[in-house]
Amino acid sequence: EAITVQELANRMAEKGADLVKAMFKMGMAVTVNQTIDQDTAELLVTDFGHNVRRVSDADVELELDTTEDNEADLKPRAPVVTIMGHVDHGKTSLLDALRGTDVTAGEAGGITQHIGAYQVTLKDKSQITFLDTPGHEAFSDMRARGANVTDIVVLVVAADDGLMPQTIEAIHHTKAAGVPMIVAINKCDKPEANPQKIRERLLEHEVIVEEMSGDVQDVEVSALKKTGLDDLTDKIQLQAELLELKANPGRAAEGAVVEAKLDKGRGPVATILVRRGTLKVGDIFVVGAESGKVRAMIDDKGKQVKKAGPSTPVEVLGLSGVPMAGDQLQVVDTETKAREIAEYRQSVMQQKRTTQAPASLESMFSALKDKQAIEYPLVIKGDTQGTVEAIIGSLNKISTEDIRVRILHSGVGGITESDVSLAGASGAPIIGFNVRANAKAREIAERQAVALKYYDVIYDLTDDIRAGMAGELGPEA
Ligand code: GDP
Repeated sequence: EAITVQELANRMAEKGADLVKAMFKMGMAVTVNQTIDQDTAELLVTDFGHNVRRVSDADVELELDTTEDNEADLKPRAPVVTIMGHVDHGKTSLLDALRGTDVTAGEAGGITQHIGAYQVTLKDKSQITFLDTPGHEAFSDMRARGANVTDIVVLVVAADDGLMPQTIEAIHHTKAAGVPMIVAINKCDKPEANPQKIRERLLEHEVIVEEMSGDVQDVEVSALKKTGLDDLTDKIQLQAELLELKANPGRAAEGAVVEAKLDKGRGPVATILVRRGTLKVGDIFVVGAESGKVRAMIDDKGKQVKKAGPSTPVEVLGLSGVPMAGDQLQVVDTETKAREIAEYRQSVMQQKRTTQAPASLESMFSALKDKQAIEYPLVIKGDTQGTVEAIIGSLNKISTEDIRVRILHSGVGGITESDVSLAGASGAPIIGFNVRANAKAREIAERQAVALKYYDVIYDLTDDIRAGMAGELGPEA
């Protein structure tokens, strides 16, 4: 961690020249623009009678209480479910129908609020939380920002339509995240519905439902006629039990931003899904690069609440600004601390914006090295099915025992936002063969530092990847 003398002076609210003078006395000749190491910086800070302030990310994290919870403090928590599937297969209809299964829905004063997530209470009093933004883009965008909030994915497939491109994308996104899946075969009220065909087609994508002696649960539903919904919630609960979802409600709260906006009357508002601890009115927090104090909380039924425990979504008022979906919220002791951390993060973001160069394939590989990956995740898009298959074939050939290519997703057509969010969530580069990224995809790729590599010769592509792999394994390999 290096810092320039001038930057350090700014942070200490001292003159750069005074720091240079002090260093000269210590026997170091430097200019204000020179960088100095952390030890020297700390020496100077102490010399000027300041407290040593955080200068790195690690220090910021130290300020936050991220300690693991004791097993004894863990209590069961509701599962968090995301619904995915192809457009028009009934995601929105199913979300609406499931909302209607809430036994508390009819309670006095409760008016449905769309806050980005909602919780249903079932007959047996157990609860399930649904994220209200269906689809795999939102899911992977959240993951890319470090918010792995989804415990279970419900894949909606219309029984009269079959597996479609976004169904397959959703399967890939879910698998890349390692999240268990339940298949909801929807529109079973239609005379032409053929659920069995769906089960068979799913085999081709390595989704093996129980009836086919696999371990993926499936359920026939009709979002329109509201049939099979109890069966679906039963299966979600069963899956949740297997996952043994638990959290400590008795600690300082941590959560993730599901949605955030600037509200004309209420100022910045964020829907927070509490991950652990209990968020209370009056709590001081930092969320992404913003800070605040919980002024009020409103649940998905429009009711003001004083506290929110694990897996509960609430709208939070009292933020300094609008955070981003996927940002983490953490409760801290003092407003000074919250502000300091937020300011630090803002300065890091500012720095990134001005210095970030698009990541190269090489640097992606070295980044992967830090994670000690022996798998190379890649997303591949090409102009024809034939070329895509040829590319996958050649990449599999250059895979060795020590290292192998892992294709998260492949397909025909230009590089889309969905491809970028999937790649970003897994730190993978995207290969475009005779195809390019659309403008929106390019913009997101830049923001998430996802490498886009274009080729028109397969040999060049395999050569690059082989070189990257060799570099990854090191000289001894
Ligand atoms: P989304 O794009 O996946 O969110 O799909 P929607 O929920 O908007 O549904 C697309 C269309 O399918 C709408 O016209 C719905 O009324 C219809 N639909 C959804 N579920 C069912 C169902 O179970 N049965 C029938 N017959 N139609 C349905």
